[in-house]
Amino acid sequence: MDESAFRPTLERALEHALAHLSGLATSPVAATASDEQLRSRFCLELTDGGMDAAQVVDELVRAAEGGILGSAGGRFFGWVIGGSLPAALAAEWLTAAWDQNATIQACSPAAAMAEEAAGAWLKSLLGLPESASFAFTSGCQMAHLTALAAARNQLLAAQGWDVETLGLQRAPLLKVIAGPERHGSVDRALRQLGLGSPEVSSLDPAELAPRLDERTILVLQAGEINTGRYDDLACLIPLAHQRGAWVHVDGAFGLWAAASPTRRHLLRGHEQADSWATDGHKWLNVPYDCGYAFVAHPEPHRRAMGLRASYLAHASEARDQIDWTPDWSRRARGFATWAALRQLGRDGVAAMIDRCCDHALALTRGIAALPGAELVAESSINQGLVSFGDRTDAVCADVCASGEAFFSPTTWRGRRAMRISVCNWQTSEEDVARSIAAVRSALLGGN
Ligand SMILES: *Cc1c(COP(=O)(O)O)cnc(C)c1O
Repeated sequence: MDESAFRPTLERALEHALAHLSGLATSPVAATASDEQLRSRFCLELTDGGMDAAQVVDELVRAAEGGILGSAGGRFFGWVIGGSLPAALAAEWLTAAWDQNATIQACSPAAAMAEEAAGAWLKSLLGLPESASFAFTSGCQMAHLTALAAARNQLLAAQGWDVETLGLQRAPLLKVIAGPERHGSVDRALRQLGLGSPEVSSLDPAELAPRLDERTILVLQAGEINTGRYDDLACLIPLAHQRGAWVHVDGAFGLWAAASPTRRHLLRGHEQADSWATDGHKWLNVPYDCGYAFVAHPEPHRRAMGLRASYLAHASEARDQIDWTPDWSRRARGFATWAALRQLGRDGVAAMIDRCCDHALALTRGIAALPGAELVAESSINQGLVSFGDRTDAVCADVCASGEAFFSPTTWRGRRAMRISVCNWQTSEEDVARSIAAVRSALLGGN
């Protein structure tokens, strides 16, 4: 191959990427371009002829200017969004350059092995049973889908119903119970599985217990998006198991507390659940998109996802990803996770988790102490809520407009609040101080 087909283009991309990453300290964290500007730059007539590849890269960067959020940097606290560790980002580039189809082991032995290795590391870091099966998915929602498909298979098989063959139309009824503060991705995953919307129940053990039986999936939460709160896993999982229910844990970011010796007590009892879903692209700082499903019972997981096709060469010893994942052709997601975990090691992950939690607390307290601000909820992990009364939305907008930091608003238990979410390995004490100062200015500026 003529190297010159790629080199100038990839070198332009490298330069632009480095310019973006090093500019994060000084450029606005929020978008500055209007939709109109972006539309006029992106929505061009599709040309008949093409253009030089390196020029395309330059044009793409120009078109996107002002429309890229500074979420890769240390002063982005909106939603729950992580950055990218250098090794993970580099591995992601190689993943694209290698362009492997990680469907089965035969399509890319290295991709399969990276997932096998990283899957085992993740189970160990997150305090999950070594025997659990796992899947690398596009995110936590697809991890829910994967794990809940295993639950559906298992609970119906116990009723003598093979859902993979017979479908759901005449199947025995299943009931899914979730708490009022579950994440919306649980509902979407259930919808996609034909299980409808969950029954919302108080998670008070006395109220919950009579509603549980061997046809119930109970969805619990480890880390609520506003307050970072944990359901009482140590109490509720055994309670559900006594009644034959399957327990699925949404730990999109909260499961990562298990990697920190100072915070893993929050998850006490979590290893007894039947399935867990979490993300790599949030707190592990792997580039989008990357999530993980774990299932304590590999057989129903495999029955729900696996498929044999005559044209696929299934290896008897190796791990074919298609047996565990909802997608068919897919990106070799394991490389970036493997690289992130190699870069940090066990201690590095723990330090990153603790650092983010400490920064979240400092931000929450620092902002709540400003005149006109009020503490709504402090978290034991990386979230926090503050309020500025009826100025809450305006203050969030003003801080974003200042370009100094990015926070997003929410309504929590009927109260408007500004969310603080720290998931980026780069966030420093200086970022915290600068962001508190930005909120102070917005409050003083007043509108
Ligand atoms: C982000 C999030 C999800 C959804 O994860 P995706 O990776 O976006 O699919 C689910 N649950 C919680 C608690 C989350 O924070």
